[in-house]
Amino acid sequence: MAFENLTKRLQDAMGKLRRKGKVSENDVKEMMREIRLALLEADVALPVVKEFTKAVRERAVGVEVLENLNPAQQIVKIVDEELTKTLGGETVGLNKSEKIPTIIMMSGLQGAGKTTFAGKLANKLIKEENARPLLIAADVYRPAAIDQLKTLGKQLDVPVFDMGTDTSPVEIVRNGLLLAREKKNDYVLIDTAGRLHIDETLMNELKDIKALANPDEILLVVDAMTGQDAVNVAASFNEALGITGVIITKLDGDTRGGAALSIRQVTGAPIKFTGTGEKLTDLEVFHPDRMSGRILG
Ligand code: GDP
Repeated sequence: MAFENLTKRLQDAMGKLRRKGKVSENDVKEMMREIRLALLEADVALPVVKEFTKAVRERAVGVEVLENLNPAQQIVKIVDEELTKTLGGETVGLNKSEKIPTIIMMSGLQGAGKTTFAGKLANKLIKEENARPLLIAADVYRPAAIDQLKTLGKQLDVPVFDMGTDTSPVEIVRNGLLLAREKKNDYVLIDTAGRLHIDETLMNELKDIKALANPDEILLVVDAMTGQDAVNVAASFNEALGITGVIITKLDGDTRGGAALSIRQVTGAPIKFTGTGEKLTDLEVFHPDRMSGRILG
């Protein structure tokens, strides 16, 4: 699982304080140095590491022995609280439209897990809300992507709107939305194309889809394995599209996990779900406090 190494390093860093009845400023400094290294090694972006360590240091230096909590416990608590803050603080659910349909647009690089996530989200909405989503296949560059979405649609018994690969994505979305309005679907999930790298044509296409569909959610799907690069990707997509939420996929893999820790701060957009496997049910609502607890072990 992700974060294994980070968890161990953080535990080591904080463990040294456990044996102490009193914590000196030097002890805190030493611990912060180790925490900083552990975070950098886990691929957390430097500005995020700096802000986090500054916040912890400021609070930890003033720690005194309280009646029922020893200094080490207090510092672990501070680290936990600040990590939760870095991860976004509160759990943020999906934005929903007052009128149906709620329109959700996926974005992200190729292979990030957009199509898979669209299927997972449809599945979740059906299970939890008895929803009637429509999936729109707007990735015209990879015929396989359309087939993949159709296969998911069959599995879930959810309609998939496509117009093959010869129509422009904007036109496909326009027609898909008309159909959704006619059929009174309550959710429309738009699967868009990704490229291997960010390019202007892709961004312009996504901007056009956004302008036409006026989505309630523009979700950026990011592969946790992309490490430091994930932060640049997220910043670019955010600048172009103004993303409203982030999905971090492949947290089940052997990743260092830094992207998950950096992205909230870099984009300002909340992480809403995480992908934890290839199956349709491998989707988790993102809770910053629980994730912090998991990372700290
Ligand atoms: P897209 O190009 O962004 O639409 O990416 P896909 O949805 O096609 O996903 C690319 C690959 O990643 C596929 O093999 C998926 O099965 C896999 N994948 C997606 N999400 C996850 C996840 O959370 N965990 C794991 N292990 N694999 C995932």
